[in-house]
Amino acid sequence: MLTFDEKPNLVLAGINLGLDSRKPREISFISHAHTDHLGDHKQIIISKPTYDFYQIRMKGAKAAPIILDYYKPWHLNNYRLSIFPAGHILGSAQIVIEGEETIVYTGDIKMRRGLTSEPIEIVHCDILIMEATFGHPRYRFPSQSELYSMLKTEIENTLAESKIPIVFGYSLGKAQEAIAVLQALGFKVTTEDKINKYLEIYQKYGVAFKPVTNLDQEWGDVLVLPMSDKWRNFVAPIPKKRTIFLSGWGVDPNAKYQFQVDNVLPFSDHCDFNELLQYVEIANPKKVYVLSKFPEFCNRLKQKGIPAQLIPRNS
Ligand SMILES: [Zn+2]
Repeated sequence: MLTFDEKPNLVLAGINLGLDSRKPREISFISHAHTDHLGDHKQIIISKPTYDFYQIRMKGAKAAPIILDYYKPWHLNNYRLSIFPAGHILGSAQIVIEGEETIVYTGDIKMRRGLTSEPIEIVHCDILIMEATFGHPRYRFPSQSELYSMLKTEIENTLAESKIPIVFGYSLGKAQEAIAVLQALGFKVTTEDKINKYLEIYQKYGVAFKPVTNLDQEWGDVLVLPMSDKWRNFVAPIPKKRTIFLSGWGVDPNAKYQFQVDNVLPFSDHCDFNELLQYVEIANPKKVYVLSKFPEFCNRLKQKGIPAQLIPRNS
């Protein structure tokens, strides 16, 4: 039914459908536009916003898009396919494949409601193929309101010391969510071109932001920048600053040393361990394939009597 190699490149054998396959395929579903889910295929099943991001991130890719609205069915051989929101970033989607059995592939998922992505839906299925990035019980994220107040305090304290707060986050998804949260907390935000370009696509799909300034204009209270060497080097000469990285890995006590920043706040666009368990409870599948670098979540499902198989991931 499901085949995969060590990368892993997932393929639903019955209909030869790739699931976020990196390897080129005749046809693949692309759940969202983070690079580790993108490939160049003959045909891609994709949401509208994800295709906008795809065209920027996969310049030169020749894939013919089958653009689906959420819940609108499409048929491949004798199977009925439809996509529904994953809550991870704008346009992120899960796919349900209905034949003799109902199969769901989640891609990356977030249970808690963000300010910039469509709220997640969970459907009942027989076979669940799920991403479990934080599939270890040590990953329990603070509540959304706790996280917002942690971020607010962090920024206010930094400004009170006459330092520049610099928030690092992944350029697509995390950065736009961070900007929306910072603006809701009353801060003025300055950012760079790539984040801004993606932000304009968010706006095109109806996500509202207050104006942001660019780095060559007057700076607001906070800089929001991609987490990369280029931008680390850019901020290096700023004498009075505090660098804050937003990532679920912030739960790890050594995260700030690992990422070489002043603080890592566990702001995630993924489920934590308990939220993954909640997801499975609601979907109530007969079998779960778990994509994770950790075996713990898969083992927990087995302890609960749910047949589960780990598909190991590197990250
Ligand atoms: Zn992702």
